[in-house]
Amino acid sequence: SNDYRVVIFGAGGVGKSSLALRFVKQTFRDAYVPTIEDTYTQVISCDSNVCTLQITDTAGSHQFPAMQRLSITRGHAFILIYSISSMASLEELRPIYLLIKEIKGAETMPSVPIMLVGNKSDETHREVKAEAAAHLAKSWGCGFIEISAKTNHNITELFQELLQMEKKRKMSL
Ligand code: GDP
Ligand code: MG
Repeated sequence: SNDYRVVIFGAGGVGKSSLALRFVKQTFRDAYVPTIEDTYTQVISCDSNVCTLQITDTAGSHQFPAMQRLSITRGHAFILIYSISSMASLEELRPIYLLIKEIKGAETMPSVPIMLVGNKSDETHREVKAEAAAHLAKSWGCGFIEISAKTNHNITELFQELLQMEKKRKMSL
């Protein structure tokens, strides 16, 4: 089909919805609104054509296991997001990464586009050093970037890098 599905996983409160809203609607809100699951769409270019980028903002760790598996099966690319102000939020991503690896098949892993993303780079309280997260991303075979949904730092760059990791189609924003 002409859809390219990106799934955002991460702990509650790390900024999954804020990232999706910032990228798709160029807005930011300070209030925390717990999400069930939302999908946003954006038209992008794909093999000198247009296709629909579908971004699924999941309920994070509150997602039912069967839903989580379905999201992974259906997803083409993944954003694993934590907050730089919470080491626990980074640690919560490991089981999700392992599940993606299991479902997508370990041997195809380096070809499944995954970005490890440290959000809230604007915050002064930092628990996760960029070097530590970059090191983890390298061991997982993922890309890594720090962003801020609040200040719009590196949001476009994140999606550009993710799309460039796709080897089966040539895609850009
Ligand atoms: P979700 O549960 O992962 O969807 O998290 P939300 O997107 O709802 O964000 C949780 C809280 O963090 C909200 O109060 C947001 O305003 C705040 N937040 C999200 N992104 C950022 C960011 O880049 N910087 C700062 N300082 N706060 C953020
Ligand atoms: Mg949310």
